[in-house]
Amino acid sequence: MNRLGVLGWPVAHSRSPAIHNAALAALGLNRDWHYQRLPVPPQLFEPLVRALAASSFAGANVTIPHKQAALALADEADKAAREIGAANTLTIAADGAITAENTDAPGLIAALGEQPTGRRALVLGAGGSARAVVWALLGAGAAEVSVWNRTPARAEQLARELGARAVAHAEPADLLVNCTSVGLQERAEGYPQQRARSPLEPSASDVSALNLLGLAFDAVGEYSHVVDLAYRSTPTPLVAAAQAHGVRATDGLDVLVAQGALSLERWTGRPAPLSVMRSAARAEDPGG
Ligand code: NDP
Repeated sequence: MNRLGVLGWPVAHSRSPAIHNAALAALGLNRDWHYQRLPVPPQLFEPLVRALAASSFAGANVTIPHKQAALALADEADKAAREIGAANTLTIAADGAITAENTDAPGLIAALGEQPTGRRALVLGAGGSARAVVWALLGAGAAEVSVWNRTPARAEQLARELGARAVAHAEPADLLVNCTSVGLQERAEGYPQQRARSPLEPSASDVSALNLLGLAFDAVGEYSHVVDLAYRSTPTPLVAAAQAHGVRATDGLDVLVAQGALSLERWTGRPAPLSVMRSAARAEDPGG
């Protein structure tokens, strides 16, 4: 048995097991491979990862808050992980050697469905995922990448380190990428999702979520492509606003599947069944 998993704390709500196990089944590998949640607190991260090889693990995805620690303990790391400063994919050799890679960055470009070459991008946020997104966009030839963050000093530091430009306000651009956790919260139970209203009339809670991102509802209509790394069972406020304006929208599940597909290909050497993975991502109960 080759074991795979996702290391996080918390990790109960991760959709990666559903996505990867559906892919392994579609590839006919589910008798020999299995993917599971690996909840591990920070103080146990390193010893647990070092013990994985002895428990038949061939690899693991890494999520909050372990991505930097994953890079630090690896024996080898790819260029993306080193320059971003974080890894989301670990591959474990039979002798226990650990290779760290970052598939968040190429996954973002794959999920875009187009190269950002020559385009202007505005990235919201300055945490770990924002670093991967800024690095990916600049590496893929974006003409300019601006960074806005609630805490401006973090945007300034990220911009300085990666060659982007920190901005005090959400500026116009072709591509808008939300890399903050705003929008993750599920709507309250009983929320009238199908309420009849004008397609261009946002709910009050959607407006306040957009305001947390320094955006007004109408301003979202000025971007040509909106990406939200956050995801939940209904469209996030940013995705809902983009859809209301007829703007192309890519949600966090598309990005999750794209980065997961690259990890799976790395571990199994087989092309990832993307449509199966996309269906599994959207079928999974977020509470499961
Ligand atoms: P971090 O904790 O490293 O960064 C969080 C960011 O969100 C910071 O910029 C923080 O701003 C900002 N933020 C948090 N709360 C608020 C708020 N109330 N108002 C405005 N800004 C806020 O997280 P990550 O970068 O690792 O992840 C960010 C999001 O991306 C998460 O939702 C995560 O689930 C998602 N993600 C999705 C992936 C996918 O595949 N779909 C992959 C990776 C991440 P400040 O600096 O001011 O605190």
